[in-house]
Amino acid sequence: MFAEQTMTYTDEIIESTAENILGTYARAPFLLVHGEGMTLYDSTGKAYLDFMAGIAVNALGYADPELVETLQQSAKSLIHVSNLFYSAPQAELAQMLVALSFADKVFFCNSGAEANEGALKFARKVAYMRGEHRRYERVSFTGGFHGRTMGALSVTPREKYQKPFGPMLPGCFVAEYNNLDSAAATINDKTAAVIVEPVQGEGGIHPATREFLQGLRELCDKHGAMLIFDEVQCGMGRTGDLFSHQFSGVEPDMLTLAKALAGGLPMGAVLVNDKVAAAMEPGDHGTTFGGGVMVANAAKTMLRRVSDPAMLAHITEMGEYLRAALRTIQSAHVVDVRGRGLMCAMELDTPVQPILEAAHEQGLIVISAGANTLRFLPPFIVQKEHIDLMITRLTAAFAACGLME
Ligand code: PLP
Repeated sequence: MFAEQTMTYTDEIIESTAENILGTYARAPFLLVHGEGMTLYDSTGKAYLDFMAGIAVNALGYADPELVETLQQSAKSLIHVSNLFYSAPQAELAQMLVALSFADKVFFCNSGAEANEGALKFARKVAYMRGEHRRYERVSFTGGFHGRTMGALSVTPREKYQKPFGPMLPGCFVAEYNNLDSAAATINDKTAAVIVEPVQGEGGIHPATREFLQGLRELCDKHGAMLIFDEVQCGMGRTGDLFSHQFSGVEPDMLTLAKALAGGLPMGAVLVNDKVAAAMEPGDHGTTFGGGVMVANAAKTMLRRVSDPAMLAHITEMGEYLRAALRTIQSAHVVDVRGRGLMCAMELDTPVQPILEAAHEQGLIVISAGANTLRFLPPFIVQKEHIDLMITRLTAAFAACGLME
């Protein structure tokens, strides 16, 4: 009886969503109502092991006691005051980010696209302040994803996303990812910004090589362009380094963050060096919500937790265990297993959508990164037994799709 009622409730919500919410997402046909640790529960009480963390957002899993306490305390004192006033949590968070990174200053916003939008503007302003009023070009890379607002979309070279919304911003050029010759042929003295993901997420989990990032730094220095690392997905510990470029020893001029930054509350940030900071003046950029009291408090807790060396070591160890475990799946359809830290992919020779649906049946949530690639982004609290259970359920999903013969 109870199950029947809740199914009806789920159906009502699905119907109401279709009726009232713009149809920009394809959603899974169940209703998640609460979570605990690594597990999500739907309205019928079914449990799902979560290997996607709300697309790399819920890095501490669900109902983390410290994060919950932070939010409760903050909600009781202040949620928002606006950027017309000083804010202790915002100042403290910025101080932490500066201390933990290459950056000299931080700008807070509300999402990944907005962070990239800001970074592209800041690069333009740097050129403008140098008197280079005609330097506005931007270079991005094949397979890159930087968001859906007009500036971020203009540097996201996917025909499917760009075509219906053209024309894109003028002066956006695309070079091949991990190919320095291609970058050298595309970056020049008119380039204001070069934007790159140190590990591509939506594009299928492709890490940039150290040489590529070093080469981009040299090309940007040679031509006077600002180098932007988009770590919206791969930052905040996800790869086992607090910031995913740190393995390379290369420093960008700007770094964009969002997703896991405030553990599920909307927050983005642009971390910048002094060169960029010096070009910006009051009124150049802004946002009502950016760096609000409650999100900043959440982000302080997140940053303290994910920057703990023990946490970063755990991410690296679990990432290695996860990739080794994925390689034990004996399906002839597996083409590649790759990734860094807890940002992993399994590429197949067949579309993965049926596997995602079969995994849901088995009580497992994973996502895709492109048509033929499964993407694994578990919360950082994942343990070996979760990975073992995930492999059991994923193997069952493969079998249900006829991929284990
Ligand atoms: N940049 C990267 C690397 C991303 O993965 C994403 C989102 O998936 C974005 C930017 C856009 O972030 P948001 O969806 O918060 O606007």
